[in-house]
Amino acid sequence: MKKILISGAAGFLGSHLSDRFIKEGYHVIGMDNLLTGNIQNIEHLFPLKEFEYYHHDITKFVHVPGKLDYILHFASPASPIDYLKMPIQTLKVGALGTHNMLGLAREKNARILVASTSEVYGDPLEHPQSEEYWGNVNPVGPRGVYDEAKRFLEAITMAYHTFHKVDTRIIRIFNTYGPRMRVEDGRVLPAFFSQAIRGEGLTVFGDGSQTRSFCYVDDLVEGIYRLLLSDYNKPVNVGNPDECTILQFAQEIIDLVGNPNAYIDYRPLPEDDPKVRQPDITKARNILGWEPKVPRAEGLLRTYEYFKTVVI
Ligand code: UDP
Repeated sequence: MKKILISGAAGFLGSHLSDRFIKEGYHVIGMDNLLTGNIQNIEHLFPLKEFEYYHHDITKFVHVPGKLDYILHFASPASPIDYLKMPIQTLKVGALGTHNMLGLAREKNARILVASTSEVYGDPLEHPQSEEYWGNVNPVGPRGVYDEAKRFLEAITMAYHTFHKVDTRIIRIFNTYGPRMRVEDGRVLPAFFSQAIRGEGLTVFGDGSQTRSFCYVDDLVEGIYRLLLSDYNKPVNVGNPDECTILQFAQEIIDLVGNPNAYIDYRPLPEDDPKVRQPDITKARNILGWEPKVPRAEGLLRTYEYFKTVVI
């Protein structure tokens, strides 16, 4: 049985990845310090003998007994509000945590896939963003702690690949959504769903003309699975190119939830908020034979089913 370690296993993506790799017949070691993760996301896996949970902060030395075939490194705060509240932890997990995960991969001769982000492109001056674009990042702005940590993650991962010959994969994840996102995580989708369900104002930042491209979690997990099993070592964008404005997104959620008290509540635009974002997924299409399958209307409906059960 193949053994895989997933850092950040109790988080939104980590928990869906744990489910997927259990389903594929792997033995999964889930690691988390629950800084932003939620143990309820993986509670259903605890009775399984194929699943082990290690409560651990990966910025400290990581020890895993026995063999290890794969590592998925997904531990990090991922919401702009979280990294504003936890700037040092965000930098440490991206830098020290990644260093420890790469060291473990080297020790165990394991293949490692690290989670990077569209934030490496910053407030992009090229649109859509292909992997060849180097980005437009403000290192000392509020997002710098996340963006630069993830840029460092890419750099150290390539260094371990070229210098230590570690078998590495780098995924650049664009905005992703689905069940198990934290209600109070501050990102746009949990914010809008909870506000629409409660019949409050949907807090649209700026005039809502900034764009994002939202990928349903099952599509993303499929892309990660394919990239891990591929032999491609350079960064690959995975996301849904279907771009929309934040105002349009708010309106879609208001229409879906149908609470007559919900309305648009314009708020100031946060500093360094990227104006546009859309992945160029040519590489993922060509190298992985991957493209997203779940249209936004369908993904939002599935996500609404989840938020109905957790928003009070
Ligand atoms: N946003 C918003 N209202 C909110 C939260 C976010 O209008 O309550 C906007 C935010 O300014 C950004 C977009 O939605 O333009 C996506 O924000 P999110 O925090 O989800 O992630 P980002 O893509 O900026 O990392």
